[in-house]
Amino acid sequence: MAESSPKRRVVLLGATGSIGESTLRVVAAHADRLELVGLAAQSNHARLAEIARQFNVRHVAIHDAAACAAARSSGAFPAGTQISGGLDGLTELATLPEADIVLVAVVGTAGLAPALAALAAKKDLALASKELLVLAGKFVMAAARASGSRLLPVDSEHNAVFQCLEGHRTSDVRRIVLTASGGAFRDWPLEKLAHATVADALKHPNWAMGPKITVDSATLANKGLELIEAQWLFGLRAGQCDAVLHTQSIVHCLVEFTDGSLLTQLCPPSMTFPIQHALLHPARAPQPTAAALDLGQAFALDFRPVDELRYPCLRLAKESMRAGGTAPAVFNAANEVAVAAFLAGRAPFLAIPRTIEHTLATVKLTDPSTLDQVLAVDAEARRVAQHFPA
Ligand code: NDP
Ligand code: MG
Repeated sequence: MAESSPKRRVVLLGATGSIGESTLRVVAAHADRLELVGLAAQSNHARLAEIARQFNVRHVAIHDAAACAAARSSGAFPAGTQISGGLDGLTELATLPEADIVLVAVVGTAGLAPALAALAAKKDLALASKELLVLAGKFVMAAARASGSRLLPVDSEHNAVFQCLEGHRTSDVRRIVLTASGGAFRDWPLEKLAHATVADALKHPNWAMGPKITVDSATLANKGLELIEAQWLFGLRAGQCDAVLHTQSIVHCLVEFTDGSLLTQLCPPSMTFPIQHALLHPARAPQPTAAALDLGQAFALDFRPVDELRYPCLRLAKESMRAGGTAPAVFNAANEVAVAAFLAGRAPFLAIPRTIEHTLATVKLTDPSTLDQVLAVDAEARRVAQHFPA
């Protein structure tokens, strides 16, 4: 974006979450280049109203019907704000005529229809919600190709790969390796994991994130979802995507080319780096929202292989990736159900991999030719996972 070009107009789905809050910091820091024109959340209308007032936003969508009604009668939004509800409201927002780019940062898969609608309306898509590509990568990528819109990865590892691949041919890539911090339990004795509590799982060593992805980091299901996400984003085979433990979360990926060279991207573990990169791309600008790496201090970067005995969810994700078809969708659905049960105190930590394994073994896997088939498999996997005795 040239200095003299107009502001890029952003719709933010998931404005009240962890990625949403980081995005607000980026937009506030670059008010000369970015303008928020739409905001959506599930139910937190009080926070949405604060954001709408602060950023002077006139289009809001609230998925939950009761929360939407409460928002309309609250009088807390700026006069003239259009407040729409349900999935239709989110989709309407994602296709706002005045929007240039839609950032999807809704936890889970509720952002799928809005993301596809945004692409059909030829909006650029900045994607944080990795679950969408895991569920329906084939259809999201086809929609992006058909629209000619840009698909900009916000997930830090994928944003790093995207940066490393610029100016290179995917055919020259031997493989990509995503880094994983190892989450809250990387140094726990294995036998203690059966007693891990929600509070234990939410103590991430490096990143401050929403609860679902923090639990996914403790199981490494998150890295598994990211391998599948990477496969779709960069057009790779399952065998070309792998993970390595890197405790500092400063190196975000390693891209290995056929000549053995490795390229990487380094920055501190703050999501404002990839968010800013995606929203301003291809321009760059100073990063006022997080401190840069201090190369004046000594620091070490370490790497070690992932122990799949400690992280069965990563093994199951890799098996799903290799199986292809609807297997990743089943993995994702079972994981979502199991993590929700764990977070609600209804299931122990180790029920998460057990639920996924059972669901993958129970649901009939296919190679879907329509999105409706994928959605039917997703619903069936959720039903099976919900009935699994944790
Ligand atoms: P949070 O739980 O912090 O926030 C989730 C956001 O999504 C909230 O704004 C929530 O609204 C909204 N939301 C949830 N369900 C719906 C729905 N059905 N319709 C509309 N809005 C909804 O999540 P995160 O910000 O941590 O994660 C968001 C996405 O980004 C996830 O897919 C995650 O995997 C991905 N991601 C996150 C990273 C991070 O650092 N946090 C890093 C990389 C990827 P409300 O507040 O009203 O509930
Ligand atoms: Mg990530």
